Amino acid sequence: MTAFTFSLRPDNVGVITLDVPGEKVNTLKAEFVEEIRKILVEARSHTQLLGLVLISGKPDSFIAGADITMIAACRSAEEAAALARQGQKVMAEIAALPIPVIAAIHGACLGGGLELALACHQRICSLDDKTRLGLPEVQLGLLPGSGGTQRLPRLIGASRALDMILTGKTLRAKQAVKLGLVEAAVPETILLETAVKMVLKGRRPRKTLPLGERLLNGRAGRSLLFKLATRRTEAKSHGNYPAVRKILSVIHIGLQQGRSAGYAAEAKAFGELAMSPESVALRGIFFATTEMKKDRGAEAEPRRLSSVGVLGGGLMGGGIAYVTASRAGLPVRIKDIRPEGINHAMKYSWDLLNRKVVRRHITTAERQRKMALISGSLDYQGFRRRDVVIEAVFEDLFLKQKMVAEVEANCLPETIFASNTSSLPISDIAAHARRPENIIGLHFFSPVDKMPLVEVIPHAKTSAQTIATTVELAKKQGKTPIVVADRAGFYVNRILTPYINEALRCLLEGEPIENIDGALVGFGFPVGPVQLLDEVGIDTGAHIIPVLEQAWGERFKAPAALDAILNDNRKGRKNERGFYLYRKKSGGKKQPDATIYKLLNVHPKAQRSAEIIAQRCVMMLLNEAARTFDEGVIRCARDGDIGAVFGIGFPPFLGGPFRYMDALGAGKMVAQLEQLAHVCGPRFLPCERLQKMAETGETFYKSVAKVDNHPDSTG
Ligand code: NAD
Repeated sequence: MTAFTFSLRPDNVGVITLDVPGEKVNTLKAEFVEEIRKILVEARSHTQLLGLVLISGKPDSFIAGADITMIAACRSAEEAAALARQGQKVMAEIAALPIPVIAAIHGACLGGGLELALACHQRICSLDDKTRLGLPEVQLGLLPGSGGTQRLPRLIGASRALDMILTGKTLRAKQAVKLGLVEAAVPETILLETAVKMVLKGRRPRKTLPLGERLLNGRAGRSLLFKLATRRTEAKSHGNYPAVRKILSVIHIGLQQGRSAGYAAEAKAFGELAMSPESVALRGIFFATTEMKKDRGAEAEPRRLSSVGVLGGGLMGGGIAYVTASRAGLPVRIKDIRPEGINHAMKYSWDLLNRKVVRRHITTAERQRKMALISGSLDYQGFRRRDVVIEAVFEDLFLKQKMVAEVEANCLPETIFASNTSSLPISDIAAHARRPENIIGLHFFSPVDKMPLVEVIPHAKTSAQTIATTVELAKKQGKTPIVVADRAGFYVNRILTPYINEALRCLLEGEPIENIDGALVGFGFPVGPVQLLDEVGIDTGAHIIPVLEQAWGERFKAPAALDAILNDNRKGRKNERGFYLYRKKSGGKKQPDATIYKLLNVHPKAQRSAEIIAQRCVMMLLNEAARTFDEGVIRCARDGDIGAVFGIGFPPFLGGPFRYMDALGAGKMVAQLEQLAHVCGPRFLPCERLQKMAETGETFYKSVAKVDNHPDSTG
């Protein structure tokens, strides 16, 4: 069976349909090159052919990108570059056709899919919400290798193309029209007919670029543009993402030296990036998340989900209600003891949906439809038939046990009780339950609408069906769930706490806040640990640390200063008092609140290198992650990597703590930890697992991509 089919319409317009057999979405594979050539020959054998429309046979996707396994199969940079050249060649053949070729796009048109559309003479797309256009290769540590870096700047202007390719952002239909990426956006029902009309009108001269883009196209303008873009991307990527540098260089070469030089540079850079450890790590994350979408969490059939209840309409409950209604599309009933709680949760969803209306991402009717799924009450009215009740009341064991009893009394016997506790053992919450098999932890992260991870925490008596159903609900809510053991701190807080504690120790030793945060941002985290504590809530952090200390001992002990900070009513962003200044006081720029040094009796003075600070914090995290692996807190290294990248922003280009430890090697890990233990104290002593691995040469993953030029944290 072939993926491409050709048909000639009575009006002599040919339609090439791409429908990869047996796949849900279309992806481009190496073997299609010959298929495309054959189909073009077949089409051109019809002498009366006036032009071609390229369309997808899938209901919801044009082409979601190139098949990434092709890249993984390449053994050398030259092999990967050859793959790119092959793609460039076939795209050039399409672009060189003397008859008009129109891409009719509905659904995802990404990566290689958009490059194919760019090779066509014109593009049109459907107005559907599923339609998205973009070149997201940078997110995999790559660049578009089939001509995209050369065609896009010429079509929409260098500055706008740089923005798209450097960020990997995707555009909706209307944005694509505005940028001139597509000619028009029309309802899907008339997509093909409109494309046919475009063919019949014949080839149109390309629209001129807007004035701003034209100015940047001159020699002086271009030089300024690339200088600014380089500065901006370096400031953001801290040199950790080689793809961004190569993208800038390849686009620049193409514009300065002409297309053929640009194509040659593109293919070469693609080959080099495909072999880079950063791309290997980023692709690893991509494969892991794809795999996890199929993971049910347990050997059981999930129960059908038709409605959800939420207890507590506070910060977390409001967010949980929002993702349940707006992403999962399930009716959700909120119960609180205070009308303000219900109002808060309703307003939370309204504000988020309204923002989408303002940005024209959804219509007012859609906002109404989603809001209609959310309702609230001060008692259990409307809770009887809820499949799952998610509890997000105060962090108090007796209160949570009371919630279990109330749900058992007011809901069906099969209703699942999922607790969003951040520190209480699920087995304790289930201690007096009549149906402990229905009780599970479902730990969201704040802000719920943004954070992609959830931890699913079964206790010893949770049934397999409860696990599978909870995992299914989390996926419907748009989350990536990891199933973790019911042990203090679960996984994410367990590895995050020693990392943050170490940052606080550096602060107490006199290291300025901006140096500590700067060191970890330079390492690759999106924000530094001190700022993160401000964002999460200093009080929230302080609540979790004693639980961990009690369970795991001295190495979790919070620096004594935390009490002084809390006694000074500093909770972080939530009350705009923390390690940083907020709003007007900071004058717009993120600035540490200097009064905290006095409070801590510290005289800030930079004493350590960024490498040493980063090493101390990261090594505490890695050592703890190895322990969680050893104890079976996580099911596998993959879950641990995804949990750290999605839960706390561990640098994705390192692939997660376990890929990173494998890349460094257990021997080096142990040596560094021992040295730190010698200098800073026994909290750094390497865990047994790492010591054993150092002796045997074992790794967390079966196959390890050896990385020689890793920016490790040795300092
Ligand atoms: P919150 O104080 O913002 O909200 C709690 C809500 O529960 C309040 O509206 C309160 O009125 C309501 N409530 C209290 N008793 C109730 C009862 N008997 N029935 C119904 N509603 C009741 O708290 P939050 O920050 O949303 O945290 C809720 C839970 O989520 C806690 O267990 C917390 O540990 C956990 N959690 C919080 C975060 C975070 O960053 N805030 C992150 C993960 C998990």
